[in-house]
Amino acid sequence: MPELPEVETTRRGIEPHILGKTIQRLEIRQPRLRWPIPRQLNTCLTGKRIQDISRRGKYLLITVKGGTLIIHLGMSGSLRILKHHQAAGPHDHVDLWLSGGTLLRFTDPRRFGAWLWTSGPVDDHPLLSSLGPEPLSDDFNTEYLHLSAQKRKVAVKPFIMNSHIVVGVGNIYANEALFRAGIHPARSAGRISRQRYGVIVTSIKSVLLVAIDHGGTTLRDFVSGEGSPGYFKQNLLTYGRTDAPCKNCGAPIREIRLGQRSTFYCGRCQH
Ligand SMILES: [Zn+2]
Repeated sequence: MPELPEVETTRRGIEPHILGKTIQRLEIRQPRLRWPIPRQLNTCLTGKRIQDISRRGKYLLITVKGGTLIIHLGMSGSLRILKHHQAAGPHDHVDLWLSGGTLLRFTDPRRFGAWLWTSGPVDDHPLLSSLGPEPLSDDFNTEYLHLSAQKRKVAVKPFIMNSHIVVGVGNIYANEALFRAGIHPARSAGRISRQRYGVIVTSIKSVLLVAIDHGGTTLRDFVSGEGSPGYFKQNLLTYGRTDAPCKNCGAPIREIRLGQRSTFYCGRCQH
């Protein structure tokens, strides 16, 4: 599933190919994504120049005069740039034709992705208005996270995965960040010191930055003639390593369910 680093990698990958280009037309082959693609989207986009491409959480925001196209990759979505015409496959649901013969193609086998439009301030859109700060921004800091955790009984792992608290900390990154921070994932969020929250904040930022850096090596995949961009493989310390030796101390990595999500940790290194 595309997480924040994959979405940021996608943004960086497609930006140089679409920024400043004019949208010539939108070709929708399958409008039934997570929500139906709005009927007026073609009218809203055609003839408009792409002014900006940014990211908020896992949403990609393509700004044109008069509004913003909001794209979410869902469970299995991907975007890629095609420089030469290539017939659409069964999961290639949307094509955005741009000036200069560039095509931005959206592929989504499971159709949990989204293509939506807003003409108002994008931060006021219902999907974005209640999101917490960006994890890599200065607004996400020790003070903020410690204050947000006050009197919370929820376990720290679901707490940091809550998008109202901070966006973009998916299951893989929550597991990895807590391992690096040496904090047990089931520990109550309200019972962690300010100092330890400082370590958690640093760990979250660093696992995301490492993942984005790794994504940089796959950027060329966004301009390709075949297949979809392969999301990068990562060097994970806990995730999916049940019973394998902890890379720090050698004890077997344990797996539990926490907030309905698979949770991996070292019982010796994390407390
Ligand atoms: Zn260990």
